[in-house]
Amino acid sequence: MTPVVAIVAVAIGVLAWLIGAPWWRARRRAAFMAQPLPATAAFAIDRNVPAVRNLPSGLRERLESLMAAFIAEKDFIGCNGLVVTDEMRATIAAMACLLVLGRRGHYDQLHSVLVYPTAFWVEDEVEDEAGVVTKRRRVLSGEAWESSRIILSWEDVLEAARHPGEGYNVALHEFAHYLDAEGLGLAAPPPPLPPERKQSREVPVRAPADGRVRSVADWADDLAGEFESLLDAVDRGEYTFLDPYAAEDEGEFFAVATEDFFERPAELRAAHPRLYSLLQEFYALDPASWVAGEIGMATA
Ligand SMILES: [Zn+2]
Repeated sequence: MTPVVAIVAVAIGVLAWLIGAPWWRARRRAAFMAQPLPATAAFAIDRNVPAVRNLPSGLRERLESLMAAFIAEKDFIGCNGLVVTDEMRATIAAMACLLVLGRRGHYDQLHSVLVYPTAFWVEDEVEDEAGVVTKRRRVLSGEAWESSRIILSWEDVLEAARHPGEGYNVALHEFAHYLDAEGLGLAAPPPPLPPERKQSREVPVRAPADGRVRSVADWADDLAGEFESLLDAVDRGEYTFLDPYAAEDEGEFFAVATEDFFERPAELRAAHPRLYSLLQEFYALDPASWVAGEIGMATA
């Protein structure tokens, strides 16, 4: 084989891989999504994931499809002796997929979910203003520090089920960090629904209320404005609806606000309507409308 032929062959191979890999991945995902979720998984999410209890039926079906793919595609790894159960997989997958119900993203770069039985220690290095680097040991309930994996404490994941409506949910928090870091921008229109569901009025995915087309930069500016308001309130020593930890930085603000958006949406909308509508735009979802009776939605 001459060098030219070899180069052409390699180029054709690379091109075929570039075109073929996404096609193959999409095909594989569609097959996973078509698999029904076991009854035990549905039972686990009803018990452990308060935010899905009032999900309209069309969205509930989509959530279960996304979960089936998430569970099949990601490695769940038990740490510190933890044996990962189907309940753990289903509960964590439900929280992850809740965030992408109205979005196109599916955590493509995420390979594994590390699950610890309880809060875990991490050691990292911090540099002070003088440039002195010191080792720091912290105890965490979750961390999304690299694109290929997320770490969660199972005890803390269950905390949201034990205390629904309090706005604390470590899994939603970490997956929100992940989406934030993934930089997918505002939600693209959700994929078309199967024909039999097109007529369903129970699917409340909708465009921003005022119908404006906005850039991601405009959206980020508005979110930064909400963050500044929180900083001012914290500086004045006022009570804040959002956990004051949200004042840490804009990333934490987004993650904490996401917890409230799904855990106590009606309260968030009442306390911070602008922030609620920004998150509604990002997630292309309106969780406040899922609350029983509010706009006549069926409840699960
Ligand atoms: Zn955080």
